[in-house]
Amino acid sequence: MVDFIGIERVQELVARRGAARFIAELAAEIESDYLRWDSFDKSPRHATHSSVGVIELMPACDGRLYAFKYVNGHPKNTAVGLLTVTAFGVLADVQTGYPLLLSELTLTTALRTAATSALAAKHMARPDSRVMALIGNGAQSEFQTIAFHHMLGIREVRLYDTDRAATQKLERNLARLRLPGLVVVRCASTAAAVQGADIITTVTADKCNATIVTPEMIVPGVHLNAVGGDCPGKTELHREILLRSDARVVVEFEPQSRIEGEIQQLDASFGVTELAQVLSGARPARTSEKNVTIFDSVGFALEDFSALRYLMRIHHEERGGQAQIDLVPDLDDPKDLFALLAPEAAPVGARPGVLA
Ligand code: NAD
Repeated sequence: MVDFIGIERVQELVARRGAARFIAELAAEIESDYLRWDSFDKSPRHATHSSVGVIELMPACDGRLYAFKYVNGHPKNTAVGLLTVTAFGVLADVQTGYPLLLSELTLTTALRTAATSALAAKHMARPDSRVMALIGNGAQSEFQTIAFHHMLGIREVRLYDTDRAATQKLERNLARLRLPGLVVVRCASTAAAVQGADIITTVTADKCNATIVTPEMIVPGVHLNAVGGDCPGKTELHREILLRSDARVVVEFEPQSRIEGEIQQLDASFGVTELAQVLSGARPARTSEKNVTIFDSVGFALEDFSALRYLMRIHHEERGGQAQIDLVPDLDDPKDLFALLAPEAAPVGARPGVLA
């Protein structure tokens, strides 16, 4: 039997801890894995593109555990009542190859993306950062706000989305959350939202080379958390921002970011730093409070590896809802797979699919 974590179980696990603590614990898990960067077998994700979106497979392995995530990105989905991003994933034992866990990863991707964004910002943004512009107020936006409020001490969040209803939804959700001391300001444009911001988070969805943030919006010392540009032909920052002499660009895994990140707009000689080097202290992102730091995030498989392992651990620690699924046959004789189809075997349809 294989452990199974569905949406309800993730809701339950997050509710028990609170979203802020869940994100902070997950960030610590992700950081500990980035700090052993060399023990991972890494590759850019496998992406299958269509005119409307992308479906990706993201593997990572540390020699003991193997993980993969299936994830899609379809910016037009929300117009027909569907999410832009959905995901699920598997954690497996390298020794036997047997899957250990099958899990939902849609909610978890939003949590791990927020955790990674805040983790990077803790090491890249000015420590006195208190004001964040949040451009793109869709599915990921509450998670980003909770993470930056809790992990960085953000006290004002300035919202803008081309869809007013998305901003109203975010405002409603943040009002319900009552994050201590957080002031929420609705803005009329990206230019208005970034005024006075210490951190600019862009988490928009559009399959094009957008220029959500333009050079005149950037002031020395600002940190950019660019989350939404994450596949070929899909970027959010004007390329001149990346080319500023005071800018420091940090990516997750360079071979993948060259294809998918903001840096796809630049030639291969443009120098970047990997997040693992920043977290280990080998190459600090910020050497002056005047540097413009840019986390060019696309989402890397290691973050999902960490998330799956964290989920499995707390799934076992926390009582209730410990479902399993009969994904792999359990045989008396492993060479007699056919026994499952023998006349005396109970029909597969008659077996319980998921045992509580
Ligand atoms: P979503 O569709 O729910 O929300 C995106 C929002 O962006 C929408 O409300 C849309 O109106 C808004 N938007 C589009 N163009 C805009 C513009 N020019 N100015 C302002 N707002 C604009 O999508 P989501 O699930 O919140 O994901 C957002 C993006 O983040 C997607 O592109 C997704 O692929 C990406 N993403 C990246 C990571 C990562 O690890 N880097 C992880 C998850 C999602």
